[in-house]
Amino acid sequence: MQIINPATEEVIQDIAEDSPEAILKKFQSLKEGQPSWAAVPLKKRITCIERFYALLDEEKDTLSKTLTMEVGKPLQQSYNELNGARKRIEYFIKNSDRWLADEWITEEDATREKIVYEPLGIIANISAWNYPYLVGVNVFIPALIGGNGVMYKPSEYATLTGLHIQRLLYQAGIPEDVFQIVIGKGMAGQALLELPLNGYFFTGSYRTGRYIAEHTASKLVPVQLELGGKDPLYVMDDVEDIDSVAEAALEGAVYNNGQSCCAVERIYVHENVYDRFIDTFVSKAKKLAIGNPLDKATEIGPLSRKEQIDFLMQQVDDAKENGGKLLLGGGPLQQSGYFFPPTVVVNANHKMKLMTEESFGPVIGIQKVKDDQEAVQLMKDTPYGLTAAVYSKDFKRAEDVMKQMDTGTVYWNCCDRVSAGLPWSGRKSSGLGATLSYMGIRAFVQPKAYHLRG
Ligand code: NAD
Repeated sequence: MQIINPATEEVIQDIAEDSPEAILKKFQSLKEGQPSWAAVPLKKRITCIERFYALLDEEKDTLSKTLTMEVGKPLQQSYNELNGARKRIEYFIKNSDRWLADEWITEEDATREKIVYEPLGIIANISAWNYPYLVGVNVFIPALIGGNGVMYKPSEYATLTGLHIQRLLYQAGIPEDVFQIVIGKGMAGQALLELPLNGYFFTGSYRTGRYIAEHTASKLVPVQLELGGKDPLYVMDDVEDIDSVAEAALEGAVYNNGQSCCAVERIYVHENVYDRFIDTFVSKAKKLAIGNPLDKATEIGPLSRKEQIDFLMQQVDDAKENGGKLLLGGGPLQQSGYFFPPTVVVNANHKMKLMTEESFGPVIGIQKVKDDQEAVQLMKDTPYGLTAAVYSKDFKRAEDVMKQMDTGTVYWNCCDRVSAGLPWSGRKSSGLGATLSYMGIRAFVQPKAYHLRG
């Protein structure tokens, strides 16, 4: 398997994929190691995670550079990702005790009752490339704290980062027979579906997620899916500071080159502020610095995968055919690397794929609406259900919209954000189950009910 730098198209490294036999061996070693890990006191398991937390900071320069080289993320955003991952780890370090402790239900009655939380066993963590640290720590940190063994399958586009993660976990004291990386593409992931694992925790596309759910259903083990989105943002006509709203919406649309699961993927603007919003949005988008992602001033780097260029081009062409007006961008830069500049289509409508299927790139459609009711109807017109954002100075009016969203997350005057203390969950085609918050700690354990007499 070749690791390619998307900014230069150069091969960074050739790396061997794991064969099904090698994956089976890794699984067998976890089978041996996991019970001893589960017997290690919780506090000691957390101590290893504290060391990992410190190592991420100590090695941040190397780790950020590797991440930028293999996925094309602007360097400053790689640093931000590491910081964000550390914040989540801190949450797990501080809160796991409370949610994993034995829970007495009745202590005084003749029959005493308590709940004990036991690990699931060995779980698969099949991961995406767009935020390998963030989406990784959502799973392998609480899984390890909970006493599980982890088969960690990083995306083939973030393999070197995956290897760093494994190295640092071992350095932090996680035993080798408790955490194993699986190197490879979809076939390596597929091999995990054949093994008798005790849970499947997947982050990636709807298509693969659904496939995994279907192919593991007969095992009757937990399956959690964090999938894609087509997240809307609605600008009401009472917003006062159009400049800062446009700034936030633009950042939500293009951060990480638009390759975020909760990126702003479509914007609806009330007709009273539509023209002003568009002028401000486009003038800001024009100023974004596109170029070498290793340069700290760069705001837009290359897309991570070459195929995505054609995919985005099809969306732009389709939008133009359906009445869209292209105000900025519209095609890849004619140079080496998978660079696609910020692209803005106005006069958007729901006949366009740009407004209905996940773009996963710095391409955005903006549609005019006449009132909140029309905005709500359009925001809900999607098979996805990850997040939805509303900008308004009136909380009651915004709340009315937020209540009608069938999404796991809603935002008022903010967007494209995840918090460790809140559950991260998608509805409909955006996923199943939740990570983060206390739910994301409990997701990796199973309850045992004790009925005690005598
Ligand atoms: P992907 O579905 O192509 O791949 C995800 C992982 O699945 C990779 O590790 C891949 O090797 C593996 N895989 C592929 N085929 C498999 C199979 N048959 N069996 C088992 N594993 C298999 O997704 P991607 O391109 O890596 O990620 C982008 C998608 O992820 C976008 O849709 C994005 O919105 C979504 N995403 C969601 C969240 C979230 O929290 N909801 C976070 C990040 C990314």
